[in-house]
Amino acid sequence: MARDYYGILGVDQEATEQEIKKAYRKLARKYHPDVNPSEEAAEKFAEIAAAQEVLLDPQKRAIVDRGGDPMEAGGGMGGGAGFGGGLGDIFEAFFGGGGGARQPRSRVQPGNDALLRTSITLDEAFAGVKKDVTVDTAVLCEKCHGTGSKTESKPVTCGTCGGAGQVQEMQQSFLGNVMTTRECPTCHGYGEVIQDPCTQCAGDGRVRATRDLVVNIPAGINSGMRIRMASQGEVGHGGGPAGDLYVEVQVEPHPVFVRENNDLHLRLTVPMYDAALGTQLSVDNLAGERTTIDVPGGTQPGDTIHLPGEGMPRLRAEGAGDMIAHVQVTVPTALSNDERATLEDLRDGCPDNAEVHVESNAHGDGFFSRMRDKFRR
Ligand SMILES: [Zn+2]
Ligand SMILES: [Zn+2]
Repeated sequence: MARDYYGILGVDQEATEQEIKKAYRKLARKYHPDVNPSEEAAEKFAEIAAAQEVLLDPQKRAIVDRGGDPMEAGGGMGGGAGFGGGLGDIFEAFFGGGGGARQPRSRVQPGNDALLRTSITLDEAFAGVKKDVTVDTAVLCEKCHGTGSKTESKPVTCGTCGGAGQVQEMQQSFLGNVMTTRECPTCHGYGEVIQDPCTQCAGDGRVRATRDLVVNIPAGINSGMRIRMASQGEVGHGGGPAGDLYVEVQVEPHPVFVRENNDLHLRLTVPMYDAALGTQLSVDNLAGERTTIDVPGGTQPGDTIHLPGEGMPRLRAEGAGDMIAHVQVTVPTALSNDERATLEDLRDGCPDNAEVHVESNAHGDGFFSRMRDKFRR
Protein backbone atom coordinates (compact mmCIF):
# COMPACT_ATOMS: atom_id res chain seq x y z
CA MET A 1 0.00 0.00 0.00
CA ALA A 2 1.21 3.46 -0.90
CA ARG A 3 2.22 5.72 1.97
CA ASP A 4 0.27 8.86 2.75
CA TYR A 5 3.02 11.41 2.20
CA TYR A 6 0.63 14.33 2.54
CA GLY A 7 -0.65 12.91 5.80
CA ILE A 8 2.88 12.43 7.16
CA LEU A 9 3.55 16.17 6.76
CA GLY A 10 0.01 17.14 7.65
CA VAL A 11 -0.60 19.07 4.43
CA ASP A 12 -3.33 18.68 1.84
CA GLN A 13 -2.94 17.65 -1.77
CA GLU A 14 -3.01 21.25 -2.99
CA ALA A 15 -0.11 22.27 -0.72
CA THR A 16 2.44 24.61 -2.28
CA GLU A 17 6.19 24.05 -2.12
CA GLN A 18 6.38 26.67 0.67
CA GLU A 19 3.67 24.97 2.69
CA ILE A 20 5.43 21.62 2.35
CA LYS A 21 8.76 23.08 3.45
CA LYS A 22 7.10 24.89 6.33
CA ALA A 23 5.33 21.71 7.48
CA TYR A 24 8.58 19.78 7.21
CA ARG A 25 10.50 22.35 9.28
CA LYS A 26 7.86 22.34 11.95
CA LEU A 27 8.01 18.56 12.29
CA ALA A 28 11.79 18.46 12.01
CA ARG A 29 12.08 20.76 15.01
CA LYS A 30 10.27 18.10 16.97
CA TYR A 31 11.86 14.94 15.61
CA HIS A 32 15.31 15.91 14.46
CA PRO A 33 17.86 13.64 16.16
CA ASP A 34 19.59 16.71 17.57
CA VAL A 35 16.45 17.57 19.44
CA ASN A 36 15.16 14.13 20.12
CA PRO A 37 17.58 11.25 20.51
CA SER A 38 15.02 8.45 20.64
CA GLU A 39 14.78 5.62 18.14
CA GLU A 40 11.13 6.39 17.38
CA ALA A 41 11.95 10.02 16.69
CA ALA A 42 14.71 8.97 14.30
CA GLU A 43 12.23 6.84 12.40
CA LYS A 44 9.66 9.58 12.42
CA PHE A 45 12.23 12.05 11.15
CA ALA A 46 13.23 9.66 8.37
CA GLU A 47 9.59 9.48 7.44
CA ILE A 48 9.05 13.24 7.25
CA ALA A 49 12.36 13.77 5.44
CA ALA A 50 11.28 11.21 2.83
CA ALA A 51 7.84 12.81 2.57
CA GLN A 52 9.39 16.22 1.90
CA GLU A 53 11.75 14.76 -0.68
CA VAL A 54 8.90 13.04 -2.49
CA LEU A 55 6.51 15.97 -2.44
CA LEU A 56 9.12 18.52 -3.53
CA ASP A 57 10.01 16.38 -6.54
CA PRO A 58 7.34 16.97 -9.24
CA GLN A 59 7.86 13.52 -10.82
CA LYS A 60 7.64 11.65 -7.51
CA ARG A 61 4.72 13.81 -6.37
CA ALA A 62 2.92 12.87 -9.61
CA ILE A 63 3.35 9.18 -8.76
CA VAL A 64 1.87 9.87 -5.32
CA ASP A 65 -1.03 11.73 -6.88
CA ARG A 66 -1.77 8.71 -9.09
CA GLY A 67 -1.97 6.55 -5.95
CA GLY A 68 1.52 5.07 -6.31
CA ASP A 69 4.57 5.10 -4.06
CA PRO A 70 7.77 6.46 -5.59
CA MET A 71 9.83 5.09 -2.68
CA GLU A 72 8.79 1.50 -3.29
CA ALA A 73 10.79 -0.79 -5.61
CA GLY A 74 11.67 1.14 -8.75
CA GLY A 75 11.70 4.44 -6.93
CA GLY A 76 14.61 6.84 -6.93
CA MET A 77 16.45 5.34 -3.96
CA GLY A 78 16.43 1.72 -5.08
CA GLY A 79 14.77 -1.32 -3.65
CA GLY A 80 14.16 -1.46 0.01
CA ALA A 81 15.66 1.94 0.70
CA GLY A 82 12.43 3.38 1.97
CA PHE A 83 11.65 4.32 5.51
CA GLY A 84 13.43 3.26 8.58
CA GLY A 85 16.28 1.00 7.49
CA GLY A 86 17.84 3.02 4.69
CA LEU A 87 17.50 6.48 6.12
CA GLY A 88 18.05 5.22 9.60
CA ASP A 89 21.52 4.09 8.55
CA ILE A 90 22.24 7.50 7.16
CA PHE A 91 21.22 9.10 10.42
CA GLU A 92 23.35 6.74 12.36
CA ALA A 93 26.30 7.70 10.20
CA PHE A 94 25.64 11.37 10.77
CA PHE A 95 24.63 11.37 14.37
CA GLY A 96 26.75 8.62 15.85
CA GLY A 97 24.18 5.97 16.40
CA GLY A 98 21.32 8.32 17.09
CA GLY A 99 19.66 8.25 20.44
CA GLY A 100 19.01 4.55 20.51
CA ALA A 101 21.60 3.87 23.16
CA ARG A 102 19.80 6.01 25.71
CA GLN A 103 16.86 4.33 27.29
CA PRO A 104 14.12 6.11 29.14
CA ARG A 105 13.91 4.91 32.71
CA SER A 106 11.12 2.62 33.61
CA ARG A 107 8.03 4.31 34.95
CA VAL A 108 7.89 1.62 37.60
CA GLN A 109 10.76 2.26 39.98
CA PRO A 110 11.80 0.37 43.09
CA GLY A 111 10.97 2.37 46.20
CA ASN A 112 13.44 3.98 48.58
CA ASP A 113 14.33 2.64 51.97
CA ALA A 114 12.89 4.59 54.85
CA LEU A 115 14.47 5.40 58.20
CA LEU A 116 12.60 5.88 61.41
CA ARG A 117 13.92 6.57 64.89
CA THR A 118 12.43 5.35 68.10
CA SER A 119 13.60 5.54 71.67
CA ILE A 120 13.25 2.92 74.35
CA THR A 121 14.20 2.70 77.99
CA LEU A 122 17.21 0.72 79.19
CA ASP A 123 14.79 -1.68 80.86
CA GLU A 124 13.16 -2.28 77.47
CA ALA A 125 16.57 -2.81 75.87
CA PHE A 126 17.36 -5.31 78.62
CA ALA A 127 14.23 -7.40 78.14
CA GLY A 128 13.46 -6.74 74.49
CA VAL A 129 10.24 -4.99 73.53
CA LYS A 130 7.57 -4.83 70.86
CA LYS A 131 7.31 -1.16 70.01
CA ASP A 132 4.45 0.54 68.18
CA VAL A 133 5.72 2.98 65.58
CA THR A 134 3.97 5.21 63.09
CA VAL A 135 5.56 5.31 59.65
CA ASP A 136 4.94 8.11 57.19
CA THR A 137 5.90 6.74 53.78
CA ALA A 138 4.64 6.32 50.26
CA VAL A 139 2.15 3.50 49.89
CA LEU A 140 0.49 2.00 46.84
CA CYS A 141 -2.38 4.14 45.58
CA GLU A 142 -5.54 2.26 46.41
CA LYS A 143 -7.49 3.93 43.67
CA CYS A 144 -5.34 2.99 40.66
CA HIS A 145 -3.30 0.16 42.24
CA GLY A 146 -0.12 1.81 41.09
CA THR A 147 -0.92 2.28 37.42
CA GLY A 148 -1.33 6.04 37.89
CA SER A 149 -4.24 6.01 35.48
CA LYS A 150 -7.82 6.92 36.24
CA THR A 151 -9.05 4.50 33.60
CA GLU A 152 -7.71 1.31 32.12
CA SER A 153 -5.85 3.20 29.38
CA LYS A 154 -2.12 2.62 29.10
CA PRO A 155 0.48 5.37 29.25
CA VAL A 156 1.35 6.86 25.86
CA THR A 157 4.71 7.82 24.42
CA CYS A 158 5.72 11.31 25.47
CA GLY A 159 5.29 13.81 22.67
CA THR A 160 8.04 16.12 23.86
CA CYS A 161 10.87 13.61 23.86
CA GLY A 162 9.36 10.93 21.66
CA GLY A 163 9.79 8.39 24.41
CA ALA A 164 13.50 8.92 25.01
CA GLY A 165 12.99 10.45 28.43
CA GLN A 166 15.45 13.20 27.64
CA VAL A 167 15.74 16.13 25.34
CA GLN A 168 18.79 17.58 23.69
CA GLU A 169 19.46 21.24 23.39
CA MET A 170 22.01 23.22 21.44
CA GLN A 171 23.73 25.67 23.71
CA GLN A 172 26.26 28.27 22.81
CA SER A 173 29.45 28.32 24.76
CA PHE A 174 32.96 29.61 24.25
CA LEU A 175 33.75 26.24 22.70
CA GLY A 176 31.07 26.79 20.12
CA ASN A 177 27.73 25.09 20.01
CA VAL A 178 27.45 22.31 22.53
CA MET A 179 24.75 19.71 22.63
CA THR A 180 23.38 19.18 26.08
CA THR A 181 21.01 16.48 27.21
CA ARG A 182 18.60 16.88 30.05
CA GLU A 183 15.64 15.11 31.53
CA CYS A 184 12.47 15.64 29.51
CA PRO A 185 10.38 18.22 31.40
CA THR A 186 7.12 16.69 30.23
CA CYS A 187 7.55 13.05 31.24
CA HIS A 188 10.37 13.55 33.80
CA GLY A 189 12.51 10.94 32.11
CA TYR A 190 9.99 8.14 31.89
CA GLY A 191 9.44 8.51 28.14
CA GLU A 192 5.73 8.07 28.55
CA VAL A 193 2.92 10.10 29.95
CA ILE A 194 -0.33 9.16 31.59
CA GLN A 195 -3.19 10.79 29.75
CA ASP A 196 -5.78 10.44 32.47
CA PRO A 197 -3.91 10.72 35.76
CA CYS A 198 -5.47 9.14 38.80
CA THR A 199 -7.12 11.81 40.92
CA GLN A 200 -5.76 10.26 44.10
CA CYS A 201 -2.06 10.09 43.25
CA ALA A 202 -1.80 12.41 40.21
CA GLY A 203 -0.25 9.59 38.19
CA ASP A 204 2.49 8.72 40.67
CA GLY A 205 0.94 5.36 41.51
CA ARG A 206 1.56 5.95 45.20
CA VAL A 207 0.40 8.27 47.93
CA ARG A 208 1.80 9.34 51.25
CA ALA A 209 0.19 7.74 54.20
CA THR A 210 0.88 6.92 57.80
CA ARG A 211 0.86 3.33 58.93
CA ASP A 212 1.12 1.80 62.35
CA LEU A 213 3.63 -1.01 62.69
CA VAL A 214 4.96 -3.11 65.50
CA VAL A 215 8.75 -3.37 65.66
CA ASN A 216 10.21 -6.34 67.41
CA ILE A 217 13.22 -4.96 69.30
CA PRO A 218 15.47 -7.76 70.55
CA ALA A 219 16.96 -7.87 74.04
CA GLY A 220 20.45 -6.40 74.22
CA ILE A 221 19.97 -3.77 71.53
CA ASN A 222 22.14 -0.70 71.85
CA SER A 223 21.77 2.93 70.82
CA GLY A 224 22.30 3.55 67.11
CA MET A 225 21.48 0.00 66.03
CA ARG A 226 18.98 -0.41 63.23
CA ILE A 227 16.31 -3.01 62.75
CA ARG A 228 15.45 -3.79 59.14
CA MET A 229 11.85 -4.45 58.20
CA ALA A 230 11.82 -5.83 54.68
CA SER A 231 9.46 -4.18 52.19
CA GLN A 232 8.06 -1.74 54.74
CA GLY A 233 9.76 1.28 53.16
CA GLU A 234 8.50 3.52 50.40
CA VAL A 235 6.56 2.17 47.48
CA GLY A 236 8.28 3.23 44.25
CA HIS A 237 7.09 5.46 41.45
CA GLY A 238 4.47 3.72 39.36
CA GLY A 239 3.68 1.37 42.24
CA GLY A 240 7.15 -0.20 42.16
CA PRO A 241 8.24 -2.63 44.89
CA ALA A 242 8.65 -1.06 48.31
CA GLY A 243 12.06 -0.47 49.85
CA ASP A 244 12.91 -1.54 53.36
CA LEU A 245 12.19 0.25 56.57
CA TYR A 246 15.00 0.74 59.04
CA VAL A 247 14.15 1.53 62.62
CA GLU A 248 17.02 3.15 64.46
CA VAL A 249 16.85 2.60 68.17
CA GLN A 250 17.90 5.16 70.75
CA VAL A 251 18.21 3.92 74.32
CA GLU A 252 17.32 6.56 76.88
CA PRO A 253 19.64 7.24 79.83
CA HIS A 254 18.83 5.30 83.00
CA PRO A 255 18.71 6.96 86.43
CA VAL A 256 21.03 4.37 88.00
CA PHE A 257 22.92 2.44 85.33
CA VAL A 258 25.31 3.72 82.69
CA ARG A 259 25.77 1.24 79.90
CA GLU A 260 29.09 0.52 78.24
CA ASN A 261 28.76 -2.20 75.62
CA ASN A 262 27.12 -4.98 77.61
CA ASP A 263 28.34 -3.85 81.01
CA LEU A 264 26.21 -1.84 83.38
CA HIS A 265 28.06 0.62 85.59
CA LEU A 266 26.67 2.13 88.75
CA ARG A 267 28.00 4.23 91.58
CA LEU A 268 27.81 3.25 95.21
CA THR A 269 28.09 5.80 97.95
CA VAL A 270 29.61 3.99 100.96
CA PRO A 271 30.20 5.67 104.34
CA MET A 272 33.79 5.25 105.51
CA TYR A 273 32.72 2.90 108.32
CA ASP A 274 31.12 0.54 105.81
CA ALA A 275 34.09 0.81 103.48
CA ALA A 276 36.37 -0.13 106.38
CA LEU A 277 34.23 -2.86 107.89
CA GLY A 278 32.46 -4.18 104.78
CA THR A 279 28.75 -4.22 104.09
CA GLN A 280 26.07 -5.50 101.78
CA LEU A 281 23.57 -3.47 99.83
CA SER A 282 20.98 -4.37 97.30
CA VAL A 283 20.06 -2.77 94.02
CA ASP A 284 17.14 -3.33 91.66
CA ASN A 285 18.58 -4.81 88.51
CA LEU A 286 16.96 -4.28 85.10
CA ALA A 287 15.09 -7.56 85.38
CA GLY A 288 13.32 -6.01 88.38
CA GLU A 289 15.03 -8.30 90.87
CA ARG A 290 17.05 -7.38 93.93
CA THR A 291 20.73 -7.95 93.41
CA THR A 292 23.01 -8.03 96.43
CA ILE A 293 26.32 -6.26 96.19
CA ASP A 294 29.00 -7.28 98.66
CA VAL A 295 31.27 -4.44 99.65
CA PRO A 296 34.27 -6.13 101.25
CA GLY A 297 35.99 -4.66 104.31
CA GLY A 298 38.85 -2.36 103.38
CA THR A 299 37.26 -1.10 100.18
CA GLN A 300 39.03 2.02 98.91
CA PRO A 301 37.47 5.01 97.19
CA GLY A 302 37.32 4.30 93.43
CA ASP A 303 37.40 0.53 93.85
CA THR A 304 35.12 -1.42 91.57
CA ILE A 305 33.06 -4.45 92.41
CA HIS A 306 32.27 -6.80 89.51
CA LEU A 307 29.12 -8.89 89.32
CA PRO A 308 29.68 -11.18 86.35
CA GLY A 309 26.68 -11.90 84.14
CA GLU A 310 24.53 -9.21 85.79
CA GLY A 311 24.83 -6.77 82.88
CA MET A 312 22.97 -6.46 79.58
CA PRO A 313 22.13 -9.63 77.67
CA ARG A 314 24.21 -10.09 74.54
CA LEU A 315 22.28 -9.28 71.39
CA ARG A 316 21.08 -12.47 69.71
CA ALA A 317 23.60 -14.50 71.69
CA GLU A 318 24.02 -16.34 74.94
CA GLY A 319 25.23 -14.71 78.10
CA ALA A 320 25.39 -11.20 79.45
CA GLY A 321 27.85 -8.51 80.42
CA ASP A 322 28.81 -7.57 83.95
CA MET A 323 27.44 -5.19 86.49
CA ILE A 324 30.26 -2.99 87.76
CA ALA A 325 29.82 -0.95 90.91
CA HIS A 326 32.15 2.02 91.42
CA VAL A 327 32.66 2.79 95.07
CA GLN A 328 32.62 6.33 96.37
CA VAL A 329 33.53 6.60 100.04
CA THR A 330 31.98 9.38 102.07
CA VAL A 331 33.52 10.92 105.13
CA PRO A 332 31.21 12.31 107.84
CA THR A 333 31.24 16.10 108.01
CA ALA A 334 29.28 16.74 111.19
CA LEU A 335 30.40 14.61 114.11
CA SER A 336 28.67 14.34 117.50
CA ASN A 337 30.89 14.49 120.57
CA ASP A 338 30.61 10.72 121.03
CA GLU A 339 31.55 10.04 117.42
CA ARG A 340 34.46 12.37 117.65
CA ALA A 341 35.68 10.63 120.82
CA THR A 342 35.36 7.22 119.18
CA LEU A 343 37.25 8.29 116.10
CA GLU A 344 39.99 9.84 118.22
CA ASP A 345 40.35 6.55 120.08
CA LEU A 346 40.64 4.75 116.78
CA ARG A 347 43.27 7.16 115.55
CA ASP A 348 45.35 6.81 118.69
CA GLY A 349 45.51 3.07 118.23
CA CYS A 350 46.27 3.28 114.54
CA PRO A 351 49.82 3.04 113.22
CA ASP A 352 49.05 4.99 110.04
CA ASN A 353 49.64 8.72 109.92
CA ALA A 354 48.91 11.29 107.31
CA GLU A 355 51.94 11.71 105.06
CA VAL A 356 53.01 13.19 101.80
CA HIS A 357 52.33 10.81 99.01
CA VAL A 358 55.23 9.52 96.97
CA GLU A 359 54.04 9.83 93.40
CA SER A 360 56.32 7.12 92.05
CA ASN A 361 54.40 4.64 94.18
CA ALA A 362 51.09 5.73 92.72
CA HIS A 363 49.14 3.46 90.48
CA GLY A 364 45.82 3.78 88.78
CA ASP A 365 44.76 6.38 86.27
CA GLY A 366 43.43 9.17 88.40
CA PHE A 367 44.13 12.87 88.07
CA PHE A 368 47.64 12.72 89.50
CA SER A 369 48.89 9.87 87.38
CA ARG A 370 47.47 11.59 84.28
CA MET A 371 49.29 14.77 85.21
CA ARG A 372 52.47 12.81 85.98
CA ASP A 373 52.36 11.06 82.60
CA LYS A 374 51.87 14.40 80.93
CA PHE A 375 55.00 15.88 82.47
CA ARG A 376 57.03 12.79 81.70
CA ARG A 377 56.39 13.08 78.00
ZN1 LIG B 1 -3.61 6.49 41.85
ZN1 LIG C 1 9.23 13.16 27.54
